[in-house]
Amino acid sequence: MKVKILGHSYNVFFDSDRTDRNEYGNCISSELRISIDNNTPKSWQNETLIHEIAEAINAHLDLKLEHSTINRVGSIIHQITESNPELLKFLANIKKK
Ligand SMILES: [Zn+2]
Repeated sequence: MKVKILGHSYNVFFDSDRTDRNEYGNCISSELRISIDNNTPKSWQNETLIHEIAEAINAHLDLKLEHSTINRVGSIIHQITESNPELLKFLANIKKK
C-alpha cells in the first residue's frame, strides 16, 4: 500500500518477520518506508499505522514533537477513526464528488 504524506509517496509494508520486537512499527522517512508488525491485532496495526504517519509528519515538518505526544495523537486519531466508520466513508466520498 502507498500513503501520500506531504507530497511524498510512502510504501507501507505489513511485515511478519520484523526483527525488532521492541516496536510495533517504524517509519524511515529517508526511504519513504513505513513497516507495521502484522503479528499484532488488526486494531493495533491500525493505530500503529496512524502513529507512523504522525512520525513522518513530525520528521518532514521538523516539529520536534516528543514521542509521547506522537503516541497520544496517534491514539486519539485511531479512536476517532475506529469509533466513526461513517466519518471515514464520508471523507472518502468527498474526493469522488
Ligand atoms: Zn514512534
